[in-house]
Amino acid sequence: MSSAMLQDTQTDWIARGQQVVMNTYGRFPIVIELGEGCTLFDVNGKSYLDFVSGIAVNNLGYQHPVWMAELSEQLGKFAHCSNLYWNPPQIELAELLTRFSAFDRVFFCNSGAEAVEAALKLARKYGKHRKHVIAMENSFHGRTYGAMTLTGQPKYHKNFEPLVPEISYAAFNNFEAVSAQVTQETCAILIEPIQGEGGIQPANPDFLKKVRALCDEKDIVLIFDEVQCGIGRTGKLFGYENFDMTPDMIALAKGLGGGFPIGAMMAVEKVAVFEPGDHASTFGGNALACKAGKAVLDTLLMNEQALLKHTVEIGNYLKSKLAELQKTQPMITDIRGMGLMIGIELDRTVASTVQKCIEQGLLLVGAGPNVLRFVPPLIVTKTEIDAAIAILTNVLNEVSQTARGDI
Ligand SMILES: *Cc1c(COP(=O)(O)O)cnc(C)c1O
Repeated sequence: MSSAMLQDTQTDWIARGQQVVMNTYGRFPIVIELGEGCTLFDVNGKSYLDFVSGIAVNNLGYQHPVWMAELSEQLGKFAHCSNLYWNPPQIELAELLTRFSAFDRVFFCNSGAEAVEAALKLARKYGKHRKHVIAMENSFHGRTYGAMTLTGQPKYHKNFEPLVPEISYAAFNNFEAVSAQVTQETCAILIEPIQGEGGIQPANPDFLKKVRALCDEKDIVLIFDEVQCGIGRTGKLFGYENFDMTPDMIALAKGLGGGFPIGAMMAVEKVAVFEPGDHASTFGGNALACKAGKAVLDTLLMNEQALLKHTVEIGNYLKSKLAELQKTQPMITDIRGMGLMIGIELDRTVASTVQKCIEQGLLLVGAGPNVLRFVPPLIVTKTEIDAAIAILTNVLNEVSQTARGDI
């Protein structure tokens, strides 16, 4: 049979993919064809309310007019030129990012892991002879060697040792544990202000303030990984704005391009010690990618930051609906998060709940074994939240009929 004839059904696409795509993901058996607003459609035309957003990537949903217009305009000019030369979208995006943050300089790359790598290299250069970095337990920073080593979860390290040297882990939200690890060799401390993959765990503000003071005292670089919680996700442009303090460096990616791959590392002037030759990326600062980033920032900031305000309000609405559901559904043991980065902890693993939600047309993703994560596009409406809660209510009722031991 020709491949054109095989394209009709979802099952055929999946069979073809399984032959040729590297076996790195446990995927659900759906093949996405189209997105509109907060809704995705599979190749069979079934629709799904998308509360995953490509894992906190599609902040503007699908087919957002500003995003489409900016990218189309740039496509009519050029997509890529080397960093041997300047390009206006890169400069404009760097201006926006620095103007609305505490940072002075931006390095552009293509992903979260690369943004973390850039921060690790910059911190080690700034630290001169000091190379030791403290990362948090239960963290997630990406899959490249530096980022993977910084990830404080042994399951990500298995099979891939030896890891990058001089990285140690301290308990998250435990200042004594962090300060106990500081030595004369420590150059940086890396924290997700809200742990994402680790189960939507916000940092304790007092913990962050104490770490900030320790870093000031010892000239240690404080790095925030905001790959997931940055760019409007918490209802602030940056995650650190929720904590009344500023780090020295920040890693960004996911939401920054609204679905176009882009990452960025930002730093305050004092620690921005890279010189030509130290670090680079062929695609980093690509004109098309930076236009996507500019479209996202412009949209978040327009009309006096209306979309950020909406994120806070609608996030509170979602939380209140989840709290209502918790009253009738005791298997929900905790509700936490900020803005539209929300997790609910269940008294059991979430796999069967996620599976049943997909069947009923709602996309959700776990964050660790027991946490269901809600990271819809920031443009999500009350009606869409009500629809999602209705599906979730059905599913949890079904799941709660099953004894905990069966799952
Ligand atoms: C997703 C994520 C990363 C890795 O980003 P990639 O683009 O997959 O490399 C790093 N840090 C955090 C906090 C993330 O959520």
